[in-house]
Amino acid sequence: MNVYDGQRIAAMLEKHGLSQTNDVSDADIIILNTCSVREKATNKVYSALGRIRRAKKASAIFGIVGCVARESGSDAFKRIPELNFVLGPQSYHKLPDILKNPDTKLLNIDLGGLEKFDELPQMTKTPTVAYIPVQEGCNHCCTYCIVPYTRGRELSRPFNDVIKDTINAAKTGAIEICFLGQNVNGYKYTDENGKLYRLSDLIKEAAKLPEIQRIRFTSSYPTEMTDDLIEMFGIEDKLLPFLNMPIQSGSPRILKKMNRPDDIENYKNIVKKLKSVRPDIQISSDFIVGFPDETDEDFEQTLNVAREIKYINSYSFKYSPRPHTAAAIMPNQISEQIKSVRLQKLDSQLNENQREFNMSCIGKEMLCLLEGDDKTGRHLVFRTPYMQQCIIEKPDYEISPLQKIKITDANKASLRGEIKLK
Ligand code: SF4
Repeated sequence: MNVYDGQRIAAMLEKHGLSQTNDVSDADIIILNTCSVREKATNKVYSALGRIRRAKKASAIFGIVGCVARESGSDAFKRIPELNFVLGPQSYHKLPDILKNPDTKLLNIDLGGLEKFDELPQMTKTPTVAYIPVQEGCNHCCTYCIVPYTRGRELSRPFNDVIKDTINAAKTGAIEICFLGQNVNGYKYTDENGKLYRLSDLIKEAAKLPEIQRIRFTSSYPTEMTDDLIEMFGIEDKLLPFLNMPIQSGSPRILKKMNRPDDIENYKNIVKKLKSVRPDIQISSDFIVGFPDETDEDFEQTLNVAREIKYINSYSFKYSPRPHTAAAIMPNQISEQIKSVRLQKLDSQLNENQREFNMSCIGKEMLCLLEGDDKTGRHLVFRTPYMQQCIIEKPDYEISPLQKIKITDANKASLRGEIKLK
């Protein structure tokens, strides 16, 4: 979501005659787009702001947008007096106001709903992967999560608006569409004639566009994986065989405390149904270790589920208490030392899953999307349909961004391959 927000902010400022620079000391306007999902990310924002204020030129307009801006509000001005603006994740379309009045202080952390989508200019050039938000906010109220506070209640965008953005992305360079939402599969929009649209309808419509070759969506809530959406994986070839469906913990007791779906059997059934319609599908998850009151036994259940589902490409984090959340004041908070030990154990299981899956890809041919050059400039980096990184020698001839690649080698982190010439 932040990548999307960053792209839209850049496009909006370009409309006002600005262009991007990588040199902070040369910038006329500096915007830090922020994430508050973990405590560490929030702390990093304030140290980055300190660095920027020392490096920037005196006349530069300087501010923060996003979730830390919403969380901090006017306090941000007290901590960093040089700030000119503090705009929440649903107010960054107000940025041009500060360009008109650079000597004022602009604070807007309102939850303005979907207003920003109406006001943002369409992109004139889209990267090969286009992120298209379909909904914003979340009603699930997981007890550790700050998102309902920073992004507000769940709102789905009108079906036609999402499709309009998708068509524009296709016409301006996108090959892959990633539908976005904090609770993306909870997408529900009813039009003026009472017709209900779900995420499966968006996928069907996007798949009709010839320019769009790959479709995916993130992030999914397990119990919102409705049958129409599961069936899409069997019907629509352009939908990638890869799904991020966070389970967070393998312990029903901890899941209950997290206010997450605690029926692990039901979760496994969803995976089974997905595999029955798309046998090659792979699942990834997010995990939180060291949630308050998590015992060794609870953690063992998490390890077991990671082993059993054989998640690939997953994210695991130590629980970090966030303001405005119920879990932050729960008793039996877990020590950092125990969290670190558990995280290490879980990571080694997830790495083993990843290594095993990567090795199983050797010899296969996959249609991969070009991401760009690697650091050396001698190789090209592609993304497989499972979002693995695949590296090939840079050819001395022009290639199209979507390539059939034969996988020749693998390790835990990435694949090696060669272009399969017809
Ligand atoms: S479903 Fe996701 S975004 Fe919503 S409250 Fe839970 S963790 Fe946060």
